[in-house]
Amino acid sequence: MNAEVYASLVALQDVRRAGWRIVVAKFARRPRGQGNPVEVEFDWRAVYRLEDRTGAVVGFYHTHPEGMADMSGTDEKTMRGWTASLGKPLLCVIRSGDEVVAWEFVPGRRTRRAQAATICRGVVVAVIRHARG
Ligand SMILES: [Zn+2]
Repeated sequence: MNAEVYASLVALQDVRRAGWRIVVAKFARRPRGQGNPVEVEFDWRAVYRLEDRTGAVVGFYHTHPEGMADMSGTDEKTMRGWTASLGKPLLCVIRSGDEVVAWEFVPGRRTRRAQAATICRGVVVAVIRHARG
C-alpha cells in the first residue's frame, strides 16, 4: 500500500459570492510529508508558524487508499480541533485514487461537503454551497 501523503493548504483565492464559496489553494511547502497507509503524523508547530506568517492556512490535504474517499473519525476529530484552534473555517481535502473530495469545517456549525473539488497542476479548487435550499 502507498503511504498517505499530507500537506497544508494555503489560499490563493477565497471568494464568497451569491451563496457560494470558492477556494483556490496551493500546497504549502511545510508541513507536508508522508505517513503510513492508515495514519499521518502532523507537525502542528509548523502549521502555527505557517498561519502566523501568512494568515492564509485554509485547510489540509491528505491521501487515502483508493476507494476510501470518506473522512475517517480521526479526520473529523482532527479537523474540529484545528478549526477550534485556528478559529476559522478550514477545508479537509482528501484524494483517493482519482477521486478528490473536500469538506468545510466552520467553528460551531455543521460540516459541509463541497459540491465540487479537484486538483489541477498542484492547485486545489473547492466549491462549497452556503445558501439554503
Ligand atoms: Zn484521512
